[in-house]
Amino acid sequence: MSAPAAYPAPRPTAESAPFWEAAREGRLVLQYCPACGRWQFYPRPFCTECLSEALEWRAASGQGRIHSFTICHIPAHPVFADRVPCAMGFIDLDEGVRMLGEVVGGAPRIGARVAVEFEHREDGTSLPRWRLLEEEGAA
Ligand SMILES: [Zn+2]
Repeated sequence: MSAPAAYPAPRPTAESAPFWEAAREGRLVLQYCPACGRWQFYPRPFCTECLSEALEWRAASGQGRIHSFTICHIPAHPVFADRVPCAMGFIDLDEGVRMLGEVVGGAPRIGARVAVEFEHREDGTSLPRWRLLEEEGAA
């Protein structure tokens, strides 16, 4: 007998633990480099621009635009079988970093504004995903 299928869970590292801890609290945080004024994602032990190790975790706006997306019809793991079709997108955050995640709340299109929200799972993990925002002038 096999155990019930569970969602694959993030495995925080020393660098990424603050990101996942904030996600559990429903907050999106990113690494910021005070030395050169740049944000970065994914988390790393140093700034990829100036190599400073004095990075800070700061609250992000949680908003951005869809850079690209695809509609997934084949689940990447059997546990996702009841979640397809779903939209997965690359999101260009207002801070200038790009994140990958599920896009919810309508039909995605390139350039559409999105805001982060968090899916809080029963296993204690929380994943960011992106909800489409209505824009001025949109039908
Ligand atoms: Zn830097």
